[in-house]
Amino acid sequence: SREWHLLSRPVGLPRPEDFALVGAPIPQPGPGQVLVRNLYLSVDPYMRGRMSAAKSYVAPYELGRAMQGGAVGEVVASAADGLAVGDHVLHFLGWREYAVVDAGHAVKVDPDAAPLSAYLGVLGMTGLTAYAGLLRTAAFKAGDSVFVSGAAGAVGSQVGQIARLKGAGRVVGSAGSDEKVRLLLDEYGFDAAFNYKAGPVHEQLAQAAPDGVDVYFDNVGGDHLEAAIGSLNRGGRIAICGMISVYNDTEPAPGPRSLSRLIQTRGRIEGFLVGDHYDLQPRFVEEVGPWVASGALKYRETVVEGVGNTLEAFLGVLRGDNVGKMLVRL
Ligand code: NDP
Repeated sequence: SREWHLLSRPVGLPRPEDFALVGAPIPQPGPGQVLVRNLYLSVDPYMRGRMSAAKSYVAPYELGRAMQGGAVGEVVASAADGLAVGDHVLHFLGWREYAVVDAGHAVKVDPDAAPLSAYLGVLGMTGLTAYAGLLRTAAFKAGDSVFVSGAAGAVGSQVGQIARLKGAGRVVGSAGSDEKVRLLLDEYGFDAAFNYKAGPVHEQLAQAAPDGVDVYFDNVGGDHLEAAIGSLNRGGRIAICGMISVYNDTEPAPGPRSLSRLIQTRGRIEGFLVGDHYDLQPRFVEEVGPWVASGALKYRETVVEGVGNTLEAFLGVLRGDNVGKMLVRL
């Protein structure tokens, strides 16, 4: 069995030398545990934070130990009540081929109800992040003009479509290539979209949302956040989901120069963590599941093959190689 270890804490962009794919014997489950053969591994931007030693909402990866992350796999040995060989489970011991998981930390998933990969993306953590951040943190209501950055990614593509399906006045997205912009317009039904690499964000946003923005869902930070505050309408809400543009910074970036606009607009900025919103999971699946099944809400995945390419897949997320959720298939 192979598993990924963090060898040294990256400074700036992670380098392959900071990691190693290590061989280990296939572990055996103890009482109350199952042995899972992983089928899909999730790679996510937040993992960059766990590679640093800084105190955060989740413990740093330990050097020289197997890394962790979302995964879906098949139970191949069970010493736990309620989970049998052949069951499929969602759990948090990814970055490896085989995992021994406490039954209490494994959630059974149904491969007939949705493709297994969906439990890591469109119907999983990133989907709930979009749902909770838009509807609860940003308090979206029909008629709102919504701007989302990282709009071709896993979270962002779902934010824009949920807003559209719930009656947004206007949905605007930004992404890092013309191909991604075309996808937003042609497939996801955004009203306007722009390539943030093609010109200043504040200019492109002002053109794409000439009547301003009521909700900004931030996946990026930096000049996107500054521009969104600059375009904010009275009573506007900004949900801070992520700030991927600063994750590899070695010095803290300066703050938005547009902050004083919050006074005129009585605007509100609020960060959120999906982990605080799992009470919404049943409602999320009930509402979004049928949209996915009917095709009203579309999603893409970028699937990389083989445990050996997990690091490359993770680095690809930081570069923007992915459209929709980035996954590794074993
Ligand atoms: P994505 O699928 O959106 O992948 C990340 C994308 O970020 C890339 O595809 C790339 O697309 C874009 N990107 C990379 N660098 C930059 C940059 N410098 N400027 C602008 N865009 C950049 O990832 P997720 O959907 O999983 O996550 C999206 C955001 O949500 C992240 O910030 C993540 O940390 C956050 N998050 C927060 C959670 C919470 O609980 N608060 C939970 C889950 C995710 P492009 O080609 O467009 O540049």
